[in-house]
Formats: sequence, structure tokens, C-alpha cells
Amino acid sequence: MVRLDTPEGRRLQPPPPVAIDGKLTFDRLADVYNSGTAHDEDQPVHLHVADTDICIYQCAVEYKNPCQRFCPAAVYEMVADPASPTGERLQINASNCVHCKTCDIMDPYQIITWVPPEGGDGPNYGKM
Ligand code: SF4
Repeated sequence: MVRLDTPEGRRLQPPPPVAIDGKLTFDRLADVYNSGTAHDEDQPVHLHVADTDICIYQCAVEYKNPCQRFCPAAVYEMVADPASPTGERLQINASNCVHCKTCDIMDPYQIITWVPPEGGDGPNYGKM
């Protein structure tokens, strides 16, 4: 374990967040909008999570649900849910997906499977 008050620990600190100015830098939801990706609201499910119990019991403790951070489109969210035994559940905002497939690769438990969206027809990638 590296102490954070040592030179090595300070080097391992994440950089400060980049200021969002709406001109050169954007937040994730603005990036989703700017990608021009549009889905049918009744699209078939294209993000399959095999066992959401792993999300709330295991991943929340071991990795703090990194899907919320590695997804560039804010698709995965842990939201408060009084009906859940842990008080949280995974919410999937699939219509935000920009189809980078990062989640399929980076999920530490390999329980997320990305499949072609819209039943294989693909979303409507609009022009900017
Ligand atoms: S493929 Fe996965 S990581 Fe990429 S935008 Fe869609 S949900 Fe997010």
C-alpha cells in the first residue's frame, strides 16, 4: 500500500477534473448528444448483464462499480432503491449507448455482454 502523502503517492493521484466549458470540453451527456446516435425507444435490449446481484453485492465492494466511470455515455448508474437489499440497484440507460463496446471488455467480472443494437439494424447515426 502506497501512502498518499509520499512523493510516489502524490504521483499516483488522479489529475484534477477538466473544467467543462461547453466549447472545447463537454460533459458525457453532451458528448452523447454530439455523437448523433439515436435509438428507437422500443429497441431490443442490447446490453445484457448476466447477474445484477454481482453488481450490488460484489462489485460495489471490490471495485465500486467501475462501469459508471469507464462507460463514456453514462449508460450504467447505481441508483438508490429502497427495495434492494443493499439500498442500490443497477440502472441501464441503454438509449445513451454509443457502441464503443468498452463495457464488454472492461467489466471485471465479464458479466456484461454487448450485442448489435436495434436487432442488428443499428441506430441512426445522424450528421452533425
Ligand atoms: S458499449 Fe458499453 S461502454 Fe460503450 S457506450 Fe455502450 S454501454 Fe457504454
